[in-house]
Amino acid sequence: MNARVIAVANQKGGVGKTTTVVNLAAGLAELGRRVLIVDLDPQGNATMGSGIAKQALEQSVYHVLLGDASVEEVRQPAKQGGYHVLPANRDLGGAELELVNELAREARLKNALSLVDDQYDYVLIDCPPSLNLLTLNGLVAANSVLIPMVCEYYALEGLSDLVTTLRKVRAAVNPRIEIMGLLRTMFDARSNLSQQVSEQLASHFGSKVFETVIPRNVRLAEAPSHGLPGLVYDRNARGAQAYLALAQELTARLESATATPSV
Ligand code: ADP
Ligand code: MG
Repeated sequence: MNARVIAVANQKGGVGKTTTVVNLAAGLAELGRRVLIVDLDPQGNATMGSGIAKQALEQSVYHVLLGDASVEEVRQPAKQGGYHVLPANRDLGGAELELVNELAREARLKNALSLVDDQYDYVLIDCPPSLNLLTLNGLVAANSVLIPMVCEYYALEGLSDLVTTLRKVRAAVNPRIEIMGLLRTMFDARSNLSQQVSEQLASHFGSKVFETVIPRNVRLAEAPSHGLPGLVYDRNARGAQAYLALAQELTARLESATATPSV
């Protein structure tokens, strides 16, 4: 059984990509799934948020992309949470330039992951907040994309850029990629704007919008400074429980889909 590879992407920063990756990883691990996070952001937030010191890394995803190390050599267990991390730090910022003259530069991650494919049920890729070569590596490696978004005024406009990019990726390099779901993060159920944007999302994307909504919750924001997923830091917090519900919704969607092969 091959791993399901999910790129968590949105070229906007601060929409909850990293928070989603770390907490979904912990949630899926809690449901007994084997999970690897790939940190593709030079900021290394998913690395730090998993309790791995990014400054002290001898090797990182950067070395994997350049072909100088394998996933097995570089991955580490999260401090707590029961998943693995392919960590990143600032080195990764140089990868884009160094890859320019390399062959198959957009398929580096895909090729590296194919060697550990049978060791995981889920691979979650934390993409940087831009549509650059790193994100492209994430989208080429992935079967599907999970898009976290905040229900604010310009949210839909930002999505159309991402949808256009996905269309190009599908046409040029990865025909199998699809949007797995849109996730509303930092949600305020009392705000009219949240409700309006939710309605627009439903009319554009239908059932691709996750039923699970992640509320704005300070415990989720505190957890990374302890190097822990929110689900480990304070599992009873509303935000943490929402991510556990997301893990359940996601496994129900993806794992029942393969029981009846699509035509
Ligand atoms: P991205 O990876 O898209 O840049 P982050 O996951 O880093 O976004 O989130 C941006 C900031 O918002 C971080 O400080 C994070 O702790 C905080 N945050 C994320 N999700 C929530 C939430 N549901 N409630 C409160 N704060 C959140
Ligand atoms: Mg991030």
